[in-house]
Amino acid sequence: MARPEDEEVDYCIVGAGVAGCVVANRLTEDANTSVALLEAGPRDWHPWIHIPATCLWLQSDARFNWLYESEPVPESGGRRFRISQGRVLGGSGSINGMLHVRGQAADFDSWAQSGCRGWSHDEVLPFFAKAESYDGAGDAALRGRDGPLAVSDFLAVHPLTQAFLDAAQESGVQVNADMNGSSREGAALYQQNRRGRFRANAGQTYLRAARRRPNLRLLTEAPVTRILFEGRRAVGIAYRRDGMERIIRARREVILSGGAMRSPHLLQLSGIGDASWLRACGIAPLLGLPGVGRNLRDHYQIRVAHRVGGVVTLNERTRGLAVVKEALAYAFLGRGMLTMGAGTAALFHRSREGLAAPDSQLVFAPGSFAAPGVLEREPGMTIGGWPSRPESHGTVRLRTAEPLEPPAIAPGYLSAQEDRRVIVSCLRMIRRLFAAPSLARWSRHETFPGDAVHSDDELLDFARQRGSAGLHFTGTCRMGSDPGAVVDPRLRLRGVEGLRVVDASIMPNCTVGNTNATVVMVAEKGAAMIREDALQSIAARQAAAAT
Ligand SMILES: Cc1cc2nc3c(=O)[nH]c(=O)nc-3n(C[C@H](O)[C@H](O)[C@H](O)COP(=O)(O)OP(=O)(O)OC[C@H]3O[C@@H](n4cnc5c(N)ncnc54)[C@H](O)[C@@H]3O)c2cc1C
Repeated sequence: MARPEDEEVDYCIVGAGVAGCVVANRLTEDANTSVALLEAGPRDWHPWIHIPATCLWLQSDARFNWLYESEPVPESGGRRFRISQGRVLGGSGSINGMLHVRGQAADFDSWAQSGCRGWSHDEVLPFFAKAESYDGAGDAALRGRDGPLAVSDFLAVHPLTQAFLDAAQESGVQVNADMNGSSREGAALYQQNRRGRFRANAGQTYLRAARRRPNLRLLTEAPVTRILFEGRRAVGIAYRRDGMERIIRARREVILSGGAMRSPHLLQLSGIGDASWLRACGIAPLLGLPGVGRNLRDHYQIRVAHRVGGVVTLNERTRGLAVVKEALAYAFLGRGMLTMGAGTAALFHRSREGLAAPDSQLVFAPGSFAAPGVLEREPGMTIGGWPSRPESHGTVRLRTAEPLEPPAIAPGYLSAQEDRRVIVSCLRMIRRLFAAPSLARWSRHETFPGDAVHSDDELLDFARQRGSAGLHFTGTCRMGSDPGAVVDPRLRLRGVEGLRVVDASIMPNCTVGNTNATVVMVAEKGAAMIREDALQSIAARQAAAAT
């Protein structure tokens, strides 16, 4: 029952992350549509968010990051993993490495074949193009030039990055001039979500454009605590602010864009999920939907590092006088190390002969890490690798009925034999690349894991003990047409009305490539479907009124 003090809008969007910002922008293009966009975290005021390289410092900054700790993972030495996820306007897109990689055609074609009608590569390609404005060369038929999402080539190519591409060729791998062109084959320079010297992800582009519109109501530091239902219809949300619970009612739909951890968690808190999980926390099930919070996938990553001689790496450029020079180059010229993100080039790898498409990704960085987000003092370079379409999967499950209590995250890394095989193949390919003349020229020795690790068993053990979260989480509200799916191919929650999920959680699996660009595509397509469905229901109501 609506109270006079409740606000009412057409759509409530939960989470102003990558997907939420895209959807808010597209829905408010229609001046007659009102939208409330609620974000648990603060505004994106901090300069470290906007300077590309300083994203490394945000990895452990609890002001802008949910900073989860996973459950112990049995196949990864029983370790707990630190899991960064953005909690700020722009979401993880405000703290991520800014690397822009579309999924490969085979990913989307397999979605369509598995029951996600409308999501084949040909059908999603227009949304990738619509989203972006790419400032480099590239096939005009495939690349977008005037979308909101800025995509740029790196301003300069580090000599070690060039050596990585040359080493790829020396190892029999072709170099691809446009990583986001017609294929994800071979080795290629990364592209970034950067405009000029600044980060330019969904928060800084889609949301900035929409914030001026009077039909968008944006609330920050407003965690949504539950979805409100009348019978089986979602009619609004409750959120907390200043210690009070408040309500916003949605005339048309509630849209969950809280990301792969929080969208399933909010559904569970609202009574939708595995009934036994809900009852264990004292929540009466509204709808038993066991897929909610299952099928958690990620790109489990392992890195190999080398000591370097004869060329300056990122490590030395972050210390002493060099860092002052970098700051001046950034401030006055908009160039230098501070314009860079997490990696500089990638190689899409086939882990065995006979595969129709790459199944794993290697990532090069002209620097090396002492700890997550902390570069080593001595010169170094790194190649990381991960299985791209992991078969291992885990869960996100509520611990208690208290909405602000984080969910239990069990990522299930390396639980599938196939992923264990693929990660060993990645490590072998990484060593081949380091041994190729162009990289060997600069390498002094392998620092990590080092000479003692050789056999497949030793490599696998290294991957178990030293691998880290890839932070490309997907799958916890899986899209499909089968009884186990959480949302249908129009992203509507199965079994209730007025509720959709639009974010990384609907992806059936990770794509080959980092996930941000695909999430933007999902949100573009999701927003288009929401608008189409609204027009159809208005037309149906008018037709009914006319008869
Ligand atoms: C550190 C890091 C580095 C990464 N690097 C890259 C990269 O270089 N390239 C790439 O392609 N991908 C990268 N990714 C992955 C990419 O950023 C994600 O795939 C993408 O951001 C997912 O978008 P989303 O909209 O699903 O979730 P998010 O962008 O995480 O947005 C979810 C938002 O919802 C908010 N929220 C959640 N629950 C609630 C609630 N109850 N009430 C209100 N608000 C709520 C959150 O605070 C958050 O702002 C990285 C991710 C991380 C964390």
